[in-house]
Amino acid sequence: MTPDELKAHRASYPSRAQVRETPPDPAVRALLDLAAEKGISTVFDRFDKQKNHCGHGLTGVCCRICHMGPCQVTPRAPRGACGADADVIVARNILRWMAGAVAAHGARGREVILALKAAAEGRLDQPIRGVAKLNAVAKALGLFDEAKSVQTLAAEVADVLLDDMSRTVPGDHRTLRALAPPERIKVWEELDILPIGSQQEVFEALHRTGVGTDGDWRNLMKQFLRTGLAFSWSSVAGSAIAMDILYGLPQRSRIATNVGTLDPACVNIAVHGHSPVLVSAIVEAADAPDIQEQAKAAGATGIKFYGICCSGLSALYRHGDVHPLANAVGAELVLATGAIDLWVADLQDVYPGIMDVAECFHTKVVTTSDSARLPGAIAMGFDHRHANIGETRAMARKIVEMAIANQPLRNAANVHIPPVTAEAEIGFSVENIGEAFGGPAALLDALKSGAIRGIVNLVGCNNPKIPYEVAISRVTDILLAHDVLVLTNGCASFPLLKQGYCTTGALDKGGDGLRQELGERNLPPVLHMGECLDNARASGLFRILADAAGRPIKDMPFAFSSPEWSNEKGVGASLSFRLLGLNSYHCIPAPVTGSENVQRFFEHDTADILGGVMVVDNDPEALALRLITDLDTRRDQLGWPRPSARSTAP
Ligand code: SF4
Repeated sequence: MTPDELKAHRASYPSRAQVRETPPDPAVRALLDLAAEKGISTVFDRFDKQKNHCGHGLTGVCCRICHMGPCQVTPRAPRGACGADADVIVARNILRWMAGAVAAHGARGREVILALKAAAEGRLDQPIRGVAKLNAVAKALGLFDEAKSVQTLAAEVADVLLDDMSRTVPGDHRTLRALAPPERIKVWEELDILPIGSQQEVFEALHRTGVGTDGDWRNLMKQFLRTGLAFSWSSVAGSAIAMDILYGLPQRSRIATNVGTLDPACVNIAVHGHSPVLVSAIVEAADAPDIQEQAKAAGATGIKFYGICCSGLSALYRHGDVHPLANAVGAELVLATGAIDLWVADLQDVYPGIMDVAECFHTKVVTTSDSARLPGAIAMGFDHRHANIGETRAMARKIVEMAIANQPLRNAANVHIPPVTAEAEIGFSVENIGEAFGGPAALLDALKSGAIRGIVNLVGCNNPKIPYEVAISRVTDILLAHDVLVLTNGCASFPLLKQGYCTTGALDKGGDGLRQELGERNLPPVLHMGECLDNARASGLFRILADAAGRPIKDMPFAFSSPEWSNEKGVGASLSFRLLGLNSYHCIPAPVTGSENVQRFFEHDTADILGGVMVVDNDPEALALRLITDLDTRRDQLGWPRPSARSTAP
């Protein structure tokens, strides 16, 4: 990035006032105004105060790895004190982000795998609901035997998933070997990037990025790819397998979304974060007749749950009746309603800023993980060793009782709920999408004919560097209008849930082909697949369709997009799909623009070795049109016809 480009990039960051003018969801504007009236600081206010952002950090050329620094590469000082140049510093920094991503998804996945093992061994009161998934995975891993009980098989699968995380003596990553497409395994083997185990690759990433270790940016990028595979196959796929075995597959259902669903007559509990283990038990605890009686005795008509970020989404599609309100960036706005009695904060994307807002109201915050505490919150959850995992149900019950006890302290005069709601259909999986089409062959036929031009997994988080939720909505509009089927999950899915994209009513936004193919099957044009770990469902759908076509995934008209991404897990998610040979599309550049070589590696070089590259354009419309052009290029190469352009521009 040249100095002029950097200046223009920083100048494009919206102010809080601009965010207030542009939200696609009217509730966001109302809540921003409400927060301003109450003197509540939000992520947008604090982001404004951070301007002008450091250009060295933005472009990735700030090194803080040793205390001879920090060193910043400039034309006057093109190398750090140790001699590291921009290529090495940028490559080391982004590799450390990738290691952080493996740890983030991996730690929450490990909690579920430990829960699966505990349930199988009878230490956790949790039925194993996904027996079909268990059998399928056990067969793929070579563990299946009809004589084995569900519990035995589940424990054995959990052990393999844990081994793939923690292997120290080099050996095969068994999940990857059993479940990855053979074409990809060959590609990764030839590149020598197969991981040993996820913890080992994080260990190695931190080792080789240490001072005076790996001084070759290309070799650092090789470990970046290897760590990306550990992210894909342990932190994401391994975690998703454990969740589906423990809790069963998602079920399609409808739910009312957005803050208008907050009910002042109920005990209101928000669940925020990423780990489903305690959250699932909390949602189930509220169904107990004596708990319901307690709520009524406290003067409430019932207990309602609301979803913030991914914990809410995973609880929703497994238990129903958890109303999605906001992604991580919008959490403070939900708290500003004053209507939440208890906020369950588990881990990741729970910003410390929520405590300042909660303290303005009666809202109690309960943290549930030893990894994630907040000063002022009540800590009630798993200890460092998960030694108390057997007490999950008892803790869940106590947390619900705390919410009931807190509800009478709510001050009605402090409650302001913008009356904005929308319906959404949720709970899509590889299995039920296949069923809706009567098998993958029919969906493949629609792709081949061009009725469905391509499929895009549109996900990721949000970032105040671009107007809140605008890019996600705009990219989706353009994709739908060009007959691209959209899959979504996680934080990016909230604007789509809240604006009705996840209902058949949104078929009006689609081109003729999409309207016909989905309309006759009563499917919405945006299929909601759950939380951010459910990227595994999107890649699973891509795999099934590619297999049906007899082609590798890299040849198919598929893509990944996280227009508003903002964190380490976002780097991992986009890399996962590039490792499969698909392009990833973003409105925000990664902090690699300080090195021409590393930037070129991301944006060009991986086309040859993997089949996919990173594409960045600050303009959502230009990004979406580039994505459509690239899908058409893939269609041309497959010999599949190009769909005609929609007659009316979106
Ligand atoms: Fe500076 Fe090298 Fe230390 Fe980084 S590792 S802070 S570039 S001396």
